Amino acid sequence: MQQNVSILEKAFDPESFRELGHQLIDQLADFVLAGQNRSAEQVIPYSAPNALYEKWDQAEGSVWEKVLQHSIRLHHPRYLGHQIATPPPIGALAGLLADTINNGMGVYEMGMAGTVIERKLVEWLGQKMNLGTEVSGFLTSGGSLGNLTALLAARQAATDTDIWTEGQAGQKPFAVLVSEEAHYCVDRAVKIMGWGENGIVKVPTDNAYRMRPESLPEALAEAKKRGRHVVAVIASACSTATGSFDDIDKIADFCAENGIWLHVDAAHGGGIVFSKKYRRLLKGIGRADSVVMDFHKMALSPALSTALLFRRPQSGYSTFAQKASYLWESEGDAEWFNLARRTFECTKHMMGLRVYVLKEMFGDQLFAAFIDQVMDLGKVFADLIHHKPDFDLLLSPACNIVCFRYAPGTSEDHNQLNADIRQRLVESGRFYIVQTEIKGQRFLRVSIMNPFSTKSDLEALLQEVEKIGQKLIQAEH
Ligand SMILES: *Cc1c(COP(=O)(O)O)cnc(C)c1O
Repeated sequence: MQQNVSILEKAFDPESFRELGHQLIDQLADFVLAGQNRSAEQVIPYSAPNALYEKWDQAEGSVWEKVLQHSIRLHHPRYLGHQIATPPPIGALAGLLADTINNGMGVYEMGMAGTVIERKLVEWLGQKMNLGTEVSGFLTSGGSLGNLTALLAARQAATDTDIWTEGQAGQKPFAVLVSEEAHYCVDRAVKIMGWGENGIVKVPTDNAYRMRPESLPEALAEAKKRGRHVVAVIASACSTATGSFDDIDKIADFCAENGIWLHVDAAHGGGIVFSKKYRRLLKGIGRADSVVMDFHKMALSPALSTALLFRRPQSGYSTFAQKASYLWESEGDAEWFNLARRTFECTKHMMGLRVYVLKEMFGDQLFAAFIDQVMDLGKVFADLIHHKPDFDLLLSPACNIVCFRYAPGTSEDHNQLNADIRQRLVESGRFYIVQTEIKGQRFLRVSIMNPFSTKSDLEALLQEVEKIGQKLIQAEH
């Protein structure tokens, strides 16, 4: 009995927390600094999965130290990989606060501050996106879940039947129209809803990988031929693989003419709305019925923090409880403050604080400065590639996502060569980039997410790619 009490007291001891906490903040500040000032030699201390698993228990050091030793450094300017924000460390303090007080949201009393912050963020973002004065929404755990939730709302809006209660059985089967470049989570959402392969009609793209709006009537006809009721068109802003922005305005025209819900998947590009210079890429977004935007991609927030916005508030309330929403007479009855009525999550992290604290400390200019910085550098990088004879640039980039490959005449299999180059590069740890397949061709892919990446980092990357590539070709011959 006495032993139980002492172990519990130890685990809950505020003084140990204080001491370890101060130490950890020091360790983290050093970790960030070593990345930011490039004194850490490696962006990624790569270990193969099984090797890391095998040596994990024997590795020296505290849990904190082990984790830091075996983690990729997003604060290193040569981190140029997946579209995850390099978070200002101050934003990460939000996580510490939220985890410590552990206010579980969902029900208002369980997260009063977090609930109000969510509404503030939704109104802030909704206004930036011109979604109108009624805009409402909430935060949720990632763009994938946000897209699924939006499509559930679109499905309900497309019919008079209460799908939530009655099910889909009596309905004509549903479908969405989406570009062939859309994120895989759209396909997954459609399958989760039980609409099968035929529930997704792919709209072809142009030579910049943007949906061809002029092909939408044909796609709608195709859906009808399959006996489908189209509940939504999904515009990508931007597509994940190539960073291509669909023409939202033109797609919105089509949706308006045909009475179809417009969902904009702006998981990556939504943050661009903060930039005067680049926000034209999102022209028409205010006409969307729903929008998904990841703060943890282009708005400097630690993962996860995703906004799902609805132009008409009722939409968000009918997703999981059609009947109940008929009964609410006014916005007040809809209980904006009990978030779990509208979200998949019951218990939920206070995820809004991650971005709210940055907004309050630095204002909108922080987000604008970040966007301009990384978007400008995307163009600079494309220009560097363009001037290198042995490199192919997939397309002139619209944003901070750039696809390219090393393709000298001396190589026979560019796909294999570039896969091997990337593998060597990651194993060396000196840069972190990813790869993608576009119409059967493998490309190296860079997303510039770190505001301290420079032109010379990108020049060094190309040199490194070339060096590894030449070695590989020589070894082959
Ligand atoms: C990243 C991304 C998603 C998925 O978002 P998660 O937050 O990773 O779940 C969906 N759509 C697009 C266009 C994306 O870029």
